[in-house]
Amino acid sequence: MSPQIRTGRGDITETEVDAVVNAANSALLGGGGVDGAIHRRGGPAILDECRGLRAGRYPDGLPTGRAVATTAGDLPARWVIHAVGPVYAKREDRSHLLASAYRESLRVADELGARTVAFPAISAGIYGWPVPDAARIAVETVRAADTAVEVVRFVLFDDAVLAAFEAAART
Ligand code: ADP
Repeated sequence: MSPQIRTGRGDITETEVDAVVNAANSALLGGGGVDGAIHRRGGPAILDECRGLRAGRYPDGLPTGRAVATTAGDLPARWVIHAVGPVYAKREDRSHLLASAYRESLRVADELGARTVAFPAISAGIYGWPVPDAARIAVETVRAADTAVEVVRFVLFDDAVLAAFEAAART
């Protein structure tokens, strides 16, 4: 089944869902943007688990296009799913890696038994992806997913990104 899609403006660290997705980087050790906000608001338990993942399953970091779950610490959600989107490159089509970040996040959500999942606009911040294209890939990939997740909320931080996701969701 494909999930119901909702879009709204907000701060993903405040979203009440089973799992929030983090636009993480491969190192899994925090960063700027939504990653920094999740670690700040979620507290040290998230970073502790991330360090454990680096010491165990992912010594070289989490590959681009993949996702992995940790506790959500002090956030209202139960889990954080850390997904690594690609850095935008003008001369190379990395769309499949952006789609993969969404698809893999939903696969991890299914493993956890999460029914409601919130996504930020992966790769559309520091990683430089043009927002309308990032929104289209996000919506198309979630629509095409075969998952038990019932509701996907795209939680967008500013009006321009919200407008792009609303437009993508209308098509
Ligand atoms: P990336 O490195 O994958 O581009 P960023 O975190 O830089 O990830 O940006 C992804 C998107 O998340 C951007 O649109 C940014 O404005 C947005 N963002 C930043 N902080 C938050 C937040 N607390 N909640 C939701 N979205 C956020």
